[in-house]
Amino acid sequence: MPNLIIDPRDQRFVLYEMLNVEELCKLPLYADFSRDLFDMTLNEAEKFAAGFVFPCLVEGDREGCRLENGNVHVPKCYHRCAQIYRGGGWTTMNVPAEDGGQGFPRVVAVAAKEWFSHNSAFVSYFTLTEGAANLIETYGTEAQKKKYLPKMHEAVWGGTMALTEPGAGTDVGSLKTKAIRRPDGTFRLQGTKSFITAADSDLMENIIHPVLARIEGDPPGTSGISIFLVPKFPVNEDGTLGKRNDYTIAKIEEKMGIHGSATCLVNLGDNGECYAELLGEERQGMKIMFQMMNSARIGIGIQALSGASIAYLHALQYAKERLQGSSLAEMKNPAAPRVPIIQHPDIRRMLIWMKSHTEGFRALIYFTAFCADRTLAAVDEAEREKYNGFLEVLTPICKAYCSDMAFRVTETAIQVYGGYGYCSEYPVEQFLRDEKIASIYEGANGIQALDLIGRKLGLKKGMYFMNLLGEMGQTIGKYQSALPDLAPDVQAAVNTLAEVAMLFAASGKAGNFLLPLTNAYPFLMLMGQVSMAWLLLWQAGVANEKLAAPDGGGADKAFYEGKVASARYFIKHVLPEVDAAAKAIKSGDVSMMKIPDEAFARREARPVPFVLAQYAAGVSAVRIPVARQEPFGPVVSDIVGQQDLVEALEVRMEPGEIIQAEADIFRRLEEVHRPPIGDARLFGDG
Ligand SMILES: Cc1cc2nc3c(=O)[nH]c(=O)nc-3n(C[C@H](O)[C@H](O)[C@H](O)COP(=O)(O)OP(=O)(O)OC[C@H]3O[C@@H](n4cnc5c(N)ncnc54)[C@H](O)[C@@H]3O)c2cc1C
Repeated sequence: MPNLIIDPRDQRFVLYEMLNVEELCKLPLYADFSRDLFDMTLNEAEKFAAGFVFPCLVEGDREGCRLENGNVHVPKCYHRCAQIYRGGGWTTMNVPAEDGGQGFPRVVAVAAKEWFSHNSAFVSYFTLTEGAANLIETYGTEAQKKKYLPKMHEAVWGGTMALTEPGAGTDVGSLKTKAIRRPDGTFRLQGTKSFITAADSDLMENIIHPVLARIEGDPPGTSGISIFLVPKFPVNEDGTLGKRNDYTIAKIEEKMGIHGSATCLVNLGDNGECYAELLGEERQGMKIMFQMMNSARIGIGIQALSGASIAYLHALQYAKERLQGSSLAEMKNPAAPRVPIIQHPDIRRMLIWMKSHTEGFRALIYFTAFCADRTLAAVDEAEREKYNGFLEVLTPICKAYCSDMAFRVTETAIQVYGGYGYCSEYPVEQFLRDEKIASIYEGANGIQALDLIGRKLGLKKGMYFMNLLGEMGQTIGKYQSALPDLAPDVQAAVNTLAEVAMLFAASGKAGNFLLPLTNAYPFLMLMGQVSMAWLLLWQAGVANEKLAAPDGGGADKAFYEGKVASARYFIKHVLPEVDAAAKAIKSGDVSMMKIPDEAFARREARPVPFVLAQYAAGVSAVRIPVARQEPFGPVVSDIVGQQDLVEALEVRMEPGEIIQAEADIFRRLEEVHRPPIGDARLFGDG
């Protein structure tokens, strides 16, 4: 049976028939490559994915990670898979040849990664390593590169990105981890980092954490943040590993999905000896980390695409096999044979919806990666600027539009399966659980939308955005006469996108920031839909040419018909949503900002008590401030001392003790404090 991970035919279509990536091989940077090599690589990726990565998906989910004696153990099946991943050279595809890598074009590396990313829990150990190594490559000293990179490129040593803290998620500038300067030029870190993916694992001999922290005395906010390398085992002069650094893994988060990915709470410097080296210059931490975050955002797009693809193909297969009901023609005949559910109109609607979205994501993400290649290999500044502009503007769309819509693809797959899809006996419920995180990490999608409207649209005085609209216009012009019933719809949507962007600019100029701010997310989704329609039209144009050839598309006739059908469905059934979104934005309504907080719900409907995850992790006490006047807002450790909190109760915990459930806290509190603390708010003080 063919794999149900990716349709390789569609991959090849995007690479060769739409983007003509083999043209890259004519550029000096990629002169050593050929289409044969690309194909060979993708065939190997498919074999590895089908034979090892996919079989680990369910097993990894069921087994999860465990923390034992301060060390994280990943699911057993990951070890063999990791061995093959390293052996296959998948870790060095993007590493330049002069640094011992293979220097593949990004678009081909993305296509290979698409094969593995349906198991994002497994690949996270490697993609984070790659990102951290790239940071060291760009900003490290020669000594740091020599010390860390060879082992990181082999993925024998891992890497992470450690930004988040319990009180500093989106608001990274509030971080509290401090860096204390040592006379020898190194630093010692103290603080807590939360939600750190792959912060520890028995897959790696050493782990190098790029960590954001503030050097003592540096200014508050993002401008005072520096970035440090914190090795699990500091490396001696002779390359041997020293004793374990002073940080501990306090716990692994219990999550709804990606159970094989260890998401860790990390306490740095409990004994004041957490060794750290500065990476790059002081107070440049955010700028440096942004390099990793930008490529990680494309990585999230690949995760989203891969999750959508596997969900769609599973749903399609199921719809062809599951017999239920009779055909439309025999609706009234109880004796009519049962038919596969793919024959029912509503199932076909869901399948074509999933197909057109999945293929659109693939086109969008490959095109964006292709722009990264064209930027790197550009022959002149104008070309570099053009492709870099597309890359900048499309990155938040790849991350946020694709992750939110891919989640809906996984949800629709469950709907196609019916009740069986809701049960863990079938894999689609896991696809949904694993996919959800993509819209949260690497900057929640609402933040991506703010980045798009607040920064990306205005880059180079709006030139990057306008260039993209111009590129869309060229494609539309090219296929205007061949696809006369589709091209004008796409042009109208592009015009609407431009109109809304102009409305935002005018509102900003007039000092009405609320309109763009409250509509940033609808705008991002609108732009995502227009971008998808543009790329799907492009695909339909290519497919249409093949169908019009003397052989009518030959053996691929059905495939090309499917491409035109995807574009048609998206443009006729999804793209009209752009008009509704534009109408809502143009109404100027910002009422959500005007109503008082209390108007969201009646005051007496008290929120349930809330426990910040941190309490469970080796903190010495859990304080329970009792809120008097205000409903509960975001829980941050700074909250104690606020006027409305008049009382703080404490539950004593043994050092390192873990309280698993909120109920346990209340039981203990009731033993000490009566009457019961009905509407207490809980948080950790670690
Ligand atoms: C499984 C998992 C793995 C992770 N891996 C890592 C990792 O490896 N490294 C790492 O550093 N972090 C990691 N994170 C953290 C992740 O990046 C954060 O969860 C995310 O950035 C959001 O921060 P938060 O959870 O504190 O939410 P908050 O910042 O509290 O945000 C809550 C909501 O409020 C919105 N919001 C917040 N501020 C604003 C604002 N100013 N304007 C508009 N909306 C706002 C957000 O969009 C979000 O919807 C991981 C998280 C998870 C769950």
